[in-house]
Amino acid sequence: MIDTHCHINDEAYLAHPDEYILEARCAGVSAFLNVGFDLKSSRIAVEIAQNHEYVYAAVGIHPSDVKKVGEHDFEEIEKLAKNKKVIAIGEIGLDYYWDKDPDVRNYQKKTFIQQIEIANKLNLPISIHCREGLEDCLEILKNHKVNRGGIMHCYAGSLEMAPEFIKLGFLLGFGGTTTFKNSVRPKEVIASIPSTAYVLETDAPYLTPEPFRGRPNHSKYLYLVRNKIAELRKITPEQVDKESTENFKRVFDL
Ligand SMILES: [Zn+2]
Repeated sequence: MIDTHCHINDEAYLAHPDEYILEARCAGVSAFLNVGFDLKSSRIAVEIAQNHEYVYAAVGIHPSDVKKVGEHDFEEIEKLAKNKKVIAIGEIGLDYYWDKDPDVRNYQKKTFIQQIEIANKLNLPISIHCREGLEDCLEILKNHKVNRGGIMHCYAGSLEMAPEFIKLGFLLGFGGTTTFKNSVRPKEVIASIPSTAYVLETDAPYLTPEPFRGRPNHSKYLYLVRNKIAELRKITPEQVDKESTENFKRVFDL
């Protein structure tokens, strides 16, 4: 299994990345995409990736963080992205859940496009964070084509919208929310999209799958997501491993 979205660069784990990686590998995780959310966490993601064979990095400024950064930070992201262990720009996108102010939302759009341009310039895929505002996200992706596509991390959109993102070269990422008792949409989507369209993720330390919901998440719990997806798609866990791993390797050219 590949954890296509986790934060070993989070305060909770960055002091002991070796321990984290070993524990997760013992639980069947073969590789990790450690995702940055601001300049500092992107730098740490690159550092961890350089020191660990199975860890790759994504660098970028999260939509909820863009208002806190300066122009200079985007230049630094571009420099960091040239490191050979950096395989994506992310997580970037829109977060309308936390930001209701139209000016802030417009700035999120502007900086999302700006970071798509960095990805295209360096020929990298992107990792998208989109909480609410999926229509705006889709419109941006249609008007600013991402050459290498990427991942819609923690896909929370409708079944009807899923093919639109897939058509644009995006894989849909599924994690802990597929295991939550009250979640409907992610279950409905993962049950019916093509086998070539999905990847697994934890988003650790967030969104811990059942039955551990409430504690900090960890890549070692990825098997819980994998097993739930197998149940929902009515295939074996081994088949989920195989399909999701192939999908990631294809889009990220590994
Ligand atoms: Zn994340």
